[in-house]
Amino acid sequence: GAGTTRIDDLPVREELRGKSPYGAPQLDVPVRLNTNENPYPLPEPLVERIAERVREVARNLNRYPDRDAVELRTALADYLNATGPDSAPELGAAHVWAANGSNEVIQQLLQTFGGPGRTALGFEPSYSMHSLIARGTGTAWVSGPRADDFTLDPETAVRAIAEHRPDVVFVTTPNNPTGNAVPAETVLALYEAAQRAKPSMVIVDEAYVEFSHGTSLLPLLAGRPHLVLSRTMSKAFGAAGLRLGYLAADPAVVDAVQLVRLPYHLSAVTQATALAALEHTDTLLKYVEQLKAERDRLVAELRTIGYEVTESDANFVQFGRFPEPGGARAAWRQILTRGVLVRDNGVPGWLRVSAGTPQENDAFLDAVRDLKKEQE
Ligand code: PMP
Repeated sequence: GAGTTRIDDLPVREELRGKSPYGAPQLDVPVRLNTNENPYPLPEPLVERIAERVREVARNLNRYPDRDAVELRTALADYLNATGPDSAPELGAAHVWAANGSNEVIQQLLQTFGGPGRTALGFEPSYSMHSLIARGTGTAWVSGPRADDFTLDPETAVRAIAEHRPDVVFVTTPNNPTGNAVPAETVLALYEAAQRAKPSMVIVDEAYVEFSHGTSLLPLLAGRPHLVLSRTMSKAFGAAGLRLGYLAADPAVVDAVQLVRLPYHLSAVTQATALAALEHTDTLLKYVEQLKAERDRLVAELRTIGYEVTESDANFVQFGRFPEPGGARAAWRQILTRGVLVRDNGVPGWLRVSAGTPQENDAFLDAVRDLKKEQE
């Protein structure tokens, strides 16, 4: 801030001292491929439908919104039923909970199942907000192991769960920032290990699942009340600005998170906008195939240029390797000089690029081709 008092001059909680907030740079550059957004603006008919639905609720903004967002949760359950395999259990509003982005879903889950005296475990490198939200909710954090190629070795992962006996286990699939997916059998093995150890909750963060080649985890929900699948409209639906995340789980989990949610946490405007977006699911998801094709093109071209690339099931690609210390940071800066913003997630030697439009991806590929030539 502008003043002379700094955070650490304030009586902030011990665990927040010296820490940094989540901070992907929001820079004004021509090509922004750093936060795994969908590059396509919403289609005009959907913009119209949002305006219409928001106009309707605007008249009633003197009233609190539907506290339980039942219509929206029903529409989200319908979406999951329509896109999941036949073997998945039929979901209804009782199985689904929604909040302001999946970050808030995860926060509510940690407020419910974590907290002081409890521990959460995630396999890192992974989505940094899992550990940050753990800290914010007073939950201890344990960093579980990944193999050198960033995959999860089931035996090592199961051993970590048995050793630390966490109250909450995070599995991110496809994983951010590495891009690779976790096979369903591994998720199942981790769930079983977590039940033997405690029993504990297993939160599978599926923010990027629509971009995956893999099989759906929805069938695993049947008979597993400690399993939670976390989803978002920020990526595949191309609606990051909407702030709508949701979970699918046993109805008891949905009841439990209501113990910690703030009353009326989901505004009437958010609910109306999300409902309008869900009416246009097919249009929104049509970009998913295009983005998957562009993702595959990025993987192939990066390899041709001579970079190492981690296998990706997401709408982004992890590439490297840059000589450490300082190589990834230097490369990030050089790519930025060419008007392209990618992400340095702090994984030594690696950077991450989101799949953009074909033009944006071309600009990125030109930039890293130049970079490679300079390095030779
Ligand atoms: N989970 C993962 C793995 C993510 O990468 C992100 C966004 N970067 C989120 C959750 C949070 O997304 P949102 O709050 O927009 O739903």
